[in-house]
Amino acid sequence: MSRRNVLITGANRGIGLEYVRQLLARGDHVIATARHPAQAHDLNRLVAEHPGRLHVFPLDVMDPKAEAEVARELPLVLGDEPLHLLINNAGLLHSGERFGHVPAANLEDSFRTNAMGPFLLAQAIEPRLADGAKVANMTSQLGSIANTTRFGTPTYAIGKAALNMVTRLLAAALADRRIAVVSLHPGWVQTDMGGAQAPLAPQQSVAGLLRVIDGLDMARSGSFLDWQGETLPW
Ligand code: NDP
Repeated sequence: MSRRNVLITGANRGIGLEYVRQLLARGDHVIATARHPAQAHDLNRLVAEHPGRLHVFPLDVMDPKAEAEVARELPLVLGDEPLHLLINNAGLLHSGERFGHVPAANLEDSFRTNAMGPFLLAQAIEPRLADGAKVANMTSQLGSIANTTRFGTPTYAIGKAALNMVTRLLAAALADRRIAVVSLHPGWVQTDMGGAQAPLAPQQSVAGLLRVIDGLDMARSGSFLDWQGETLPW
């Protein structure tokens, strides 16, 4: 293999940006997507520091036409090389939701961002994935149906539970091409979403997540794992 090509969504901040940093540090070729590339200042600085190894594409995962557009544009930077890893990282959490007052719009945003986008992107770029490639869907333990005992972050939980089903369905669809698909929980991480009181730094979480992704094989395809490789209940 000449170089390893990785596509990651929601890469302008938080866990996504840290993935980009660590992937670049180990020599990978990265296609990073962001809703607003012109405002993705940290990403654009990295582009300048790593000429030819980082490309930034626009992608709003809520736009159902945008995933196909990314797939069409990939040859511009990949030529006829395949993708070896897709990280569906973009995610959305509406906080402060109370039972009786949960707006339909929040449900729709969450479903479209957390579940529909990852599914449509994987479907659109499937022909570009190498046999033996990997797909990592960034989920949350809050999407675990088995672990749910209280009414918290409902639209996020519903969106991530749907994403977990996306993982299982993609794992089945891509098994004959030996493409392993997993749901990954990053831990509780210090980002805009996780907040400053979270125990894990993005560096630590992403280092663990990349170790888990590196170690993935078909026996673990269709699994729900955390950043340390522990299995979580669906
Ligand atoms: P942040 O809120 O810090 O960053 C979210 C990223 O997703 C941003 O880049 C944001 O882009 C992008 N995004 C949101 N909506 C869209 C959209 N419609 N199209 C494209 N990109 C979008 O989150 P984290 O970095 O903390 O989280 C990364 C992933 O990990 C998410 O899937 C999250 O659910 C998951 N996770 C995080 C946990 C934590 O403790 N931090 C815990 C469990 C799971 P923009 O800047 O344009 O808004």
